[in-house]
Amino acid sequence: ILSLKHMQKAYGNHQVLKDISCDINKGEIVTIIGPSGGGKSTTLRCINLLEEPTGGEIDFHGENILSPGYNRNTFRSKVGMVFQQFDLFENKNVLENCMIGQELVLKRSKDEARKIAMENLRKVGMGPFIKAKPQQLSGGQQQRVAIARAISMNPEVLLFDEPTSALDPEMVGEVLDVMQKLATTGLTMVIVTHEMGFAKSISDRVLFISDGVITEQGSPDQIVDNPQNEKTQKFLSNFR
Ligand code: ATP
Ligand code: MG
Repeated sequence: ILSLKHMQKAYGNHQVLKDISCDINKGEIVTIIGPSGGGKSTTLRCINLLEEPTGGEIDFHGENILSPGYNRNTFRSKVGMVFQQFDLFENKNVLENCMIGQELVLKRSKDEARKIAMENLRKVGMGPFIKAKPQQLSGGQQQRVAIARAISMNPEVLLFDEPTSALDPEMVGEVLDVMQKLATTGLTMVIVTHEMGFAKSISDRVLFISDGVITEQGSPDQIVDNPQNEKTQKFLSNFR
């Protein structure tokens, strides 16, 4: 569904991504791990065009989304993202947060948007909180709303950038549970995380990114339990 081909990103003369190449298949759950500053967030931000890659290609269903004339708006509506800091609209309630994108971007009617939002809010256990404003909710609840909002857009690919690292420890589990459930629905997910146990249990494949390259990739058993690359070994030793 997505194919990164020698993707690069430089800020001025700082080459942050040097050569990121990988294929992500439909329904696959790919996690990205690696040291701080290695380029994990930049990789996600390039995939959904929040940043413009400075080299290489991103193919979506076989078409290079970076080529002139490619319909980027359609692409953007098919790739969702969940951020570390939830990024909900503070002045809108939970239900409105999950409706607005559907109405503005997908041109759904209010009734349809409300119905889809309600379904997804129930799925993440936030059905009883539809009238609440984000600041009245815990971090874990806000993140579950952000996930409901993202899936209400029917993305083909959903990107997560450290969705639990801003949470108090006791709230991490509820968000990971929701993601684990989502993973069984056939949605394609790319997840940056520092939760190694979670990465191991949810992933079809783990990518280790450091210094702007995919240093090592493979099944969770290979990468998390039996890394071959010295940098991966060193990184993972911090988690044992
Ligand atoms: P972390 O685990 O800390 O989130 P990361 O792997 O997500 O790290 P990135 O955020 O992708 O790392 O950053 C990679 C490098 O790119 C860092 O050296 C960072 O300083 C640099 N960088 C990121 N965004 C910008 C920007 N807008 N302008 C200049 N440099 C940037
Ligand atoms: Mg990051």
